[in-house]
Amino acid sequence: MNRVILHSDMNSFYASVEMMLNPSLKDTVMAVGGSTEKRNGIILAKSEKAKKMGVKTGMALWEARQCCPDIVIVHPQYEQYIKYSKLAREIYERYTDRVEPFGSDESWLDVTQSTKLYGSGEQIAERIRQEVKSELGLTVSIGVSFNKIFAKLGSDMKKPDAITVITRENFKEKVWGLPVEDLLFVGRATKSKLNRCGITTIGDLARFPDYLLKSKLGKNGLMIHAYANGKDISPVVPVGFESQIKSIGHGITCISDLENNTEVCNVIQELSQSIGQKLRKHGLAARGVQIYIRDKNLYGSQWQTQMLYSSQCSLDISRTAKELFMRSYRWTDNVRSVTVRAINLIPAYIPVQLSLFNDIEQREKMLKIERSIDEIRRRFGYDAVTYASLIGNFKMPDHRNFDLPMPAFLGR
Ligand SMILES: [Mg+2]
Repeated sequence: MNRVILHSDMNSFYASVEMMLNPSLKDTVMAVGGSTEKRNGIILAKSEKAKKMGVKTGMALWEARQCCPDIVIVHPQYEQYIKYSKLAREIYERYTDRVEPFGSDESWLDVTQSTKLYGSGEQIAERIRQEVKSELGLTVSIGVSFNKIFAKLGSDMKKPDAITVITRENFKEKVWGLPVEDLLFVGRATKSKLNRCGITTIGDLARFPDYLLKSKLGKNGLMIHAYANGKDISPVVPVGFESQIKSIGHGITCISDLENNTEVCNVIQELSQSIGQKLRKHGLAARGVQIYIRDKNLYGSQWQTQMLYSSQCSLDISRTAKELFMRSYRWTDNVRSVTVRAINLIPAYIPVQLSLFNDIEQREKMLKIERSIDEIRRRFGYDAVTYASLIGNFKMPDHRNFDLPMPAFLGR
């Protein structure tokens, strides 16, 4: 049976909330930005008008003023963004309990089961569009399709305040002419590889022989080839599924004792990958990290630390855990087992604190990479992709043992 998937994207979210709360801003070219006192303040979000003048998210404030000397920059009000993000979600939940947030302003909805009650996907999208507008004073653009990838593509095609329907019948005509980098998971590196093969549009990608793609891009090539042909079967993760989870951890006992920081850090990095993957799968972010280390005498110690910001990035988890280990563990004995745990979990759609937006682009990029790694592993198995630093002489047991909980954590 055909699935009916919606992807709803709140248009210029932070900037729109600010203009809705203070309508006088509508007459100005405005953006939401970090502290103006600090030299390193950046643009967090921009209005449509500012976008037209070349203002980009992540740009330094002084650069934005070069694009537009009259730009009005307002401070972010995160509690408002969280509030309106939740209110939008409540509207989505009128139509389905299968709502999967993607960042603070985007969500996928699986409304397949709701069509008998509320009409076609397009009709449901239309109701949502109107309700968000009349109840919240905000606009959304919604893509309607038979899979998540095309639904997301659709929400980008017409905006603001618009609906795009991509069907099995019309997707070649609607999607195949678009630049290949519009496809989710085609980042800059993949794009340039594809361009070198003469692939510039999604259609080029779809028609390219898959065995050739595989030889050029590996399994990632097969994945995006399937996407371009409308073969994305990934599910929308139901709402409420994540709220029961208080922490996510992974521990292993090594096949021989770890003898130095490097060996322990490699294990931490490997464990952190699957923790990040689980966080992303459940739409959660961690605000703290805990490690539990047992030495060769099976004597265990536990330490934990808060992170500067909440994150669902494996790299943030592993970096924090490694630092924690290196400043806490006294090397009198070699290490037998290591457990890393993401703690103080919150929904990932809650925006991170302002001071940390300094490296927003970097972090978004990292998260994108990790999301594609998740997708590759989901489709092709855990070993399909890994970090170069983790290849080689490695004292970890087979991956199949990964999900065994460590006794050290039972009951904690
Ligand atoms: Mg948006």
